[in-house]
Amino acid sequence: MSSASAKNKNPRSRKSKSPLKKTAKKSAKWPHEKNILFRPDRYHYVKAEKNSFLKECVFCVTAKAPASFETLCLYKGALAQVVMNKYPYNAGHLLVLPLRHEGDLLTLSEAEMTEIYKLTRVAVKALRTEYAPQAFNIGLNLGAQAGAGIPEHMHYHIIPRWAGDTNFFPLIAETKVIIEDLAQTYRRLEKYFKVLANEV
Ligand SMILES: [Zn+2]
Repeated sequence: MSSASAKNKNPRSRKSKSPLKKTAKKSAKWPHEKNILFRPDRYHYVKAEKNSFLKECVFCVTAKAPASFETLCLYKGALAQVVMNKYPYNAGHLLVLPLRHEGDLLTLSEAEMTEIYKLTRVAVKALRTEYAPQAFNIGLNLGAQAGAGIPEHMHYHIIPRWAGDTNFFPLIAETKVIIEDLAQTYRRLEKYFKVLANEV
């Protein structure tokens, strides 16, 4: 058991001093740094966030390491990668991005754009098969003023959407309830990208 969970027998009773919020500030650089209530096992990730690999650009870390749950990378190709958003808007919120630490759309190569587009299609297919969403938001926040959480390493968002999936929690407390934890999402999606790795 982590020290955080040992001290707080009832984690949901703590509202203003969430350990997740505190550690998210320290590691920084992840987009959508809201206080997320993962169910059922959120403290596992609070502990994981203390790992030193999150001190540098998280997307460069995933680019250097093999795809794994530890870095939330589902797939690493020759030029681009698919990473789970640590602070998802919805379950299955994925990011598709170049391996290179590049913040500008215009300086990506044709080959990088082609691979990003291919991985976007694979991600949509995987999410559609596994989660059966009714729609998707797919897009890029180009620059900090546009809302990019990590503007220096551009990334496309792929967000599955369902009717009524915006509940009142984000509005009143900057807190979003996710119906499954990150490990569950990773397990559900990794098989689709393993197939892709075998094809290349
Ligand atoms: Zn980077």
